[in-house]
Amino acid sequence: MIWYIFIFGLLAVLLVIAGFMTFSRRKRELGGMESDMHTGTGHTRDPAPADAARQKHEPGPKEPAPSGGLFHKEGLGAKVKQLFHTGASDQTWTGLEDLLLKADLGPKASADLVTRVKADYRHGANPVTVVHDEMLAVLGPDEALRLGSGLNVVLVVGVNGAGKTTTIGKLASRLTHEGRTVSLAASDTYRAAASEQLGVWAQRSGAHLVTQARGADPGAVAFDAVKAAHARNSDVLLVDTAGRLHTKQPLMDELAKIKRTIEKAGAQVAETLLVLDAQTGQNGIAQARAFTEAVEVTGIVLTKTDGSAKGGVVLAVREELGVPIRFVGVGEGAGDLRPFEAAAFADRLLSG
Ligand code: GDP
Repeated sequence: MIWYIFIFGLLAVLLVIAGFMTFSRRKRELGGMESDMHTGTGHTRDPAPADAARQKHEPGPKEPAPSGGLFHKEGLGAKVKQLFHTGASDQTWTGLEDLLLKADLGPKASADLVTRVKADYRHGANPVTVVHDEMLAVLGPDEALRLGSGLNVVLVVGVNGAGKTTTIGKLASRLTHEGRTVSLAASDTYRAAASEQLGVWAQRSGAHLVTQARGADPGAVAFDAVKAAHARNSDVLLVDTAGRLHTKQPLMDELAKIKRTIEKAGAQVAETLLVLDAQTGQNGIAQARAFTEAVEVTGIVLTKTDGSAKGGVVLAVREELGVPIRFVGVGEGAGDLRPFEAAAFADRLLSG
C-alpha cells in the first residue's frame, strides 16, 4: 500500500513539473510573437555600417530585445534563421511568407520578398543576410528632401488625422535649424483649428505663416503664400492641405487647383509629400493610393511609428505605393521627425 502511494505521488510530482515546463515554453513563444515593434525606421542612434551591424545583430534566438519601441522581443531574423534550420523546402518558403505577413508587410510585399529571397538564396548562405539585402533592394536608396535654389514649394497631402499639420511643424523646425528660411501656407481651410495649430508650430519654429479665414479658397491661400514667401526670400514654403476628400475626383480637382495657383504665383512644386499614419497599416495604404492617383506624390512621411505599428508596414508602403519614404514620425515633439535610413531599418526589423 505504501509503495502504491509512493509511486502515485512520484508520478503526480513528475506530471506537475512537465506541465509547468510546457506552460513556460508556450508563454515565451507567445511573448515573442506579440507585435510590440518599433519600426525604428531611420532613427537609429547606432549608425554602424550595414555589414558590421548585420554581423553584430545577427540574432540568436535568446538575444535580448533592444529597449523600447515597436520591435519584436524575438526578432524576425531569429525566426527566419530557425525556419531555415534544415535547409530550404516548399514549407520554408510558405513559413517565410507567414512570418512576413505577421510582421505586417501585407500580401503583395510579403509574396514579392519571398520571390526575391528564393531567387537569391543558395544552400549554406545565411538566410537572414539574404532577407536583409532583399529588403534593402525593395526600399531603394535613401533619398533626402530635394531642395534646390530659390523657393522650394512642398505640398503636404494625406487623410485627416494622419499627421500632416504636425509633420509640417516638425519639418519647419528641422529646416529652420538647418539655417533655411521657412514659410507655411494654411491651405487646409476646412478643418477647424488647422490654421491655429499651424500658427503654434510657426511660432515654435520661427517660420512665417500665411493664412485666411476658415472656409477660404485653399488655392487663394497658396497663391498669397507664394507671393509672401518670395517677398521674404524664403527657401521653403510648406503647404498644408485638407484631407477630407476621400473620393478621387474632388481631391484631384482641389490639389490640381492648388498646384495651378502656385505656378500662377510664379513658383513650382518641388516635392509632394504624402503623410501616412503607420498605425492604420494596410487600410491606410489603400486610402493613400487615392492620393497617389490624384497627384504626383514624390515622397512619403510615415507618422506614428512610435506607437503599436509593426515595422513591416514600411516595406508594404514602399512596395505598394512605389514612392520612397523620406521621413518617419517618432512622436509629437518638434524633434520627432527623422530621415528614413533603409539599412538601419532592416537591421532593426530583423534583430528585433
Ligand atoms: P492632420 O489632420 O493630418 O493635420 O493631423 P495632425 O497633424 O493634426 O495630427 C493628428 C494627431 O496625430 C495629433 O494628435 C498629432 O499630435 C499626432 N501625431 C502626428 N504625428 C505623430 C507621430 O509621429 N507620433 C505620434 N505619437 N503622434 C503623432
